[in-house]
Amino acid sequence: MHPAPTNHSTSAADPVRLVCPRCLAPCLDRTLSKGEYLRCARCHAQLKSFRQGNSFQPLWAFSSAGLISMVLANTRPILHFEVAGKSQQNLILTGIESLWSEGFGIIAALVFFCTIAAPFLYLAALWYVGGSCTLGARWPGLRLAAKTASMLESMNLLPVFAVACVVSVVKLRTIGNVTWDAGALWIGIASLFTLLAMQAHNSGQVAITLEESS
Ligand SMILES: [Zn+2]
Repeated sequence: MHPAPTNHSTSAADPVRLVCPRCLAPCLDRTLSKGEYLRCARCHAQLKSFRQGNSFQPLWAFSSAGLISMVLANTRPILHFEVAGKSQQNLILTGIESLWSEGFGIIAALVFFCTIAAPFLYLAALWYVGGSCTLGARWPGLRLAAKTASMLESMNLLPVFAVACVVSVVKLRTIGNVTWDAGALWIGIASLFTLLAMQAHNSGQVAITLEESS
């Protein structure tokens, strides 16, 4: 914490002054480095933080790209499997349907949640928070979206699923002929953007921004 002095008479270098939005005290501005923020010395309201302004743009960009690649990953076949003259194309959903129809209902539901529902919901929540904070707008349900994103952060298993796909293909190759399809590439890209969005997401900063705008 770096309180800004409210009373600054020796201003030879002509410092920039901020006005506290809460108590209107004049506060001395200064350039902040990572992790620092300015507080009003009189009322302790937070005036400025390091990741201010357009710092939410990467989060919005990565989550947008992640959502688009997630749609493509789920609508394009992942692989083409050929055994004894029969061939089959597989979507992520095809595998889940097979599990379901073979009586593995709970596993099917778990795979659906971890590979489709949770990553999609997570990226959508990040997109909503990132968009709202970037535009400085207060979209409805913002707190719920921020909470959802924090909660799902640990459950997002798409990168794990991408690795599992590679492992399963190694196994399938011993039975028949396997060729990758475009969907596999999109799973890789979606995983990459999800990880980047995760890196760009700072839940503490989101909380501060929500506090400031409320
Ligand atoms: Zn103040």
